[in-house]
Amino acid sequence: MTTEQWTVSGPGDVPEAAAFWAGLAEGRIVLPWCEGCRQTVWLPKAYCPTCLQPVAGSQELAGTGEIYSLTVVHRGEGAWKEHAPYVLAYVALDGGPTMIANLAGDGTGLAIGQRVRLAGVGPLGGALFAPLAE
Ligand SMILES: [Zn+2]
Repeated sequence: MTTEQWTVSGPGDVPEAAAFWAGLAEGRIVLPWCEGCRQTVWLPKAYCPTCLQPVAGSQELAGTGEIYSLTVVHRGEGAWKEHAPYVLAYVALDGGPTMIANLAGDGTGLAIGQRVRLAGVGPLGGALFAPLAE
């Protein structure tokens, strides 16, 4: 596979992620939920990787969290090429897992540990977070 063939995941790719994509389109973070161990399952899966029970529910989170890690990508590849520079980050969600996401802006003023909130949909369809107003 060449970098020109890279694609971006999105709605319809994984049935277990349907609630996530539908929630994101409405400005919400909705993740698969395991009743067996009462925790979110991320990445979306048909069976909980912890207790192996079928995952049938979903849980809405607050949509806030903290920047765990971030990088500014200056040369995007494939579908991302025209969006560079962009910020890619791991966001530790309040009450949930750590999720890869985009951060709004070009990285100026962003820092690990900074509080963020869901701000919409990123350039290619994933979650976009922005700093919480202080
Ligand atoms: Zn479980």
